[in-house]
Amino acid sequence: MSQQTPLYEGKAKRIFATDNPDQLLVEYKNSLTAFNALKKDTLEGKGELNNKISSCLFKYLADNGVENHWLRQVDDIHQIVRSMTIIPVEVIVRNIATGSLVKRLAVQEGLELAFPLVEYCYKSDELGDPLIIHDHAVLFGWATDEQLKKIKQICLEINRILSELFSKLGIILVDFKLEFGLDSQGRLMLADEISPDTCRFWDKETRAKLDKDRFRQDLGDVLGAYREIWTRLQKHFNI
Ligand code: UDP
Repeated sequence: MSQQTPLYEGKAKRIFATDNPDQLLVEYKNSLTAFNALKKDTLEGKGELNNKISSCLFKYLADNGVENHWLRQVDDIHQIVRSMTIIPVEVIVRNIATGSLVKRLAVQEGLELAFPLVEYCYKSDELGDPLIIHDHAVLFGWATDEQLKKIKQICLEINRILSELFSKLGIILVDFKLEFGLDSQGRLMLADEISPDTCRFWDKETRAKLDKDRFRQDLGDVLGAYREIWTRLQKHFNI
């Protein structure tokens, strides 16, 4: 299946064409990168866990009215998604201050935000995904005003749905990154992935980090943390 040449290869995924021009095959890789790919490693089993976690969360979001590109999981490391033109704006939603927010503004690490903070970054490896404001995206044609307003609204809805879900699993959804795109009919919807690579998850009781920060900060047992997220989702959904 993955013997053909990918249409695109990113840091964590490979994208292949399928017989259906409206659908793509996504392969989740075992590679792990941080700090704009300055730090790299391979972790056997990471791709499988992220494929399963992402599939489960996309399905849950669709069941809760959030349309997205995910169509079905094919096997351990592959899923079929709708073919999308990705909008080059990454959206970060934060419930608790940590990571780049703390570095940039010297606000208190772990501060509970009074309302969810929605930030935009320009998707550019060359520039290191710089933080932008709404008007940058509109002025430079990366998204329309209407699309961005809709995206913000969907992001807040996703935050509400996923924070509630993870809370039931004993996990705090600290922050996460989302990407959006337009399908072949021009419909705006959620794309990319939702996994411990793109979210910060803290255990409610111990505040242990259960996400890519274990890799970024050399905390050890990265795979164990990803597996913990998947195990709690499996128990909750009986899968
Ligand atoms: N994030 C991501 N891809 C990026 C940048 C950030 O998935 O290119 C996620 C990251 O995992 C975290 C959230 O977005 O859950 C906020 O990340 P932050 O801005 O704090 O950046 P970082 O600390 O990763 O530099």
